[in-house]
Amino acid sequence: MEQRRYGEVSYPAFRARNVRCARRKFEGCREKRGSNDPNSRPTLSKPPAWASAGQKLWETCRLSLSDLNKEETAQPLPLGCQFPRFCPIPRLTVPCYAATIIGELMKAVTVYPGRRAVDILDIPEPRLAAPTQAKLRMLEVGVCGTDKDICAFALGTPPAGADHFVLGHESLAEVVETGPAVTDLRAGDLVVSTVRLPCSDPHCVPCRAGHYDFCMTGKYGEHGIKDLDGFMTEFVVEDRQNLHPVARELRDVAVLVEPLTIAEKALIEVREIQRRLPWGGGPHRAVVLGSGPVGLLGAMVLVNAGFETCVYSRPPKPNANAAVAEAIGARYLSSEETPIEDMAEQVGNIDLIYEAAGAPQFAFEVLKHLGANGIYVFTGVPRREDPIVFDTERIMLNLVLKNQAVLGVVNAGPQAFDDAVRDIGVFAARWPEALRAMITGRYPMEAFRDPVMGRAGGIKNVISICGAGAP
Ligand SMILES: [Zn+2]
Ligand SMILES: [Zn+2]
Repeated sequence: MEQRRYGEVSYPAFRARNVRCARRKFEGCREKRGSNDPNSRPTLSKPPAWASAGQKLWETCRLSLSDLNKEETAQPLPLGCQFPRFCPIPRLTVPCYAATIIGELMKAVTVYPGRRAVDILDIPEPRLAAPTQAKLRMLEVGVCGTDKDICAFALGTPPAGADHFVLGHESLAEVVETGPAVTDLRAGDLVVSTVRLPCSDPHCVPCRAGHYDFCMTGKYGEHGIKDLDGFMTEFVVEDRQNLHPVARELRDVAVLVEPLTIAEKALIEVREIQRRLPWGGGPHRAVVLGSGPVGLLGAMVLVNAGFETCVYSRPPKPNANAAVAEAIGARYLSSEETPIEDMAEQVGNIDLIYEAAGAPQFAFEVLKHLGANGIYVFTGVPRREDPIVFDTERIMLNLVLKNQAVLGVVNAGPQAFDDAVRDIGVFAARWPEALRAMITGRYPMEAFRDPVMGRAGGIKNVISICGAGAP
């Protein structure tokens, strides 16, 4: 039997061979166990003959016998691999049995929504499987409210057929290996990965046009959130087109690129809307609701874009978040000390409200104070709260009589990533200390629970995966 690596084998040959091997091994398993228990998990005792040399570890086959029966009766073979995400040939429409073969193992922070468990698990280290891919060593992964919601099991979907997935979507990684078609990245280069990948529906116009942050079908995948493994692990293989290179000098702050893309996308949208009218005159005024990382990065984007910016958040001064806001030239007002009406009066005509607090009652109270021709951008994802009461008449009247625009933004497309990579460099030069002060904690992977469960405090906490060159 020939000994070739997966990446060198054509897919039809690869799959045909795997089908044969899979059948053999499952028949063997069933015989050995002599059981019809649908929960039994047959185990590979030795590698199939076509496995390449050096693959020392073998994954337990997780196909249940009921899956096996399905496989034998259905046409064409619905190879129901339980772990298609471990397949070394990614994005197959039919998952293959390569998932049962693993080489080296690596650690990953893994979420089991069904069992309501989060733990560090050994998973197979991925390999390059297409010429356009790069293998990355993860350096840092930021933790945000989305991760906390996932670990509270309010969000998060494993890949098809799996019961768990790797957490983490705010990444910074170093290239360790590239496929032959990747000519503009080298080992050692820093990159940030896109979180959302497009759906495969040929009729999804935004996805086909590269604007998968506006996917129409909802069938997109998001690393570490929906249907795709995340980045809180040692190695990741990703396609070049989903990677955004970052300058080496930004090693200590570039993990903020992904959360920054939210504000960058918002600014792209705001500029689109601004075009509807002549928006000349003096400096425009922006209010940022919330002083967490998304709010503070939003304030940086707005100050940098020339907005007179006020960060309006609950905690009274002094606090670390307010200090960052003031260090970048924004004003900071506490909603505990300054009622909304007073804030609105102090700011003047509010041209833009950038909501990053996720608190519906507060957000709609402030909406009443949006100025003429104003734009309101929601970015927060609220947790379920009691029904809220707000002044619908006033809000509707304002929307009409003041030509207001209200929009929500989620995720970010390639343009927002490019803008964020550029601006993180601008911010690092303009406000080096304030930008660094945003990252308040770095934790080893073993200590992931405190930041991920929301017990760590601070502004932005990150998991340091690989210590090399760590700030
Ligand atoms: Zn995030
Ligand atoms: Zn789509």
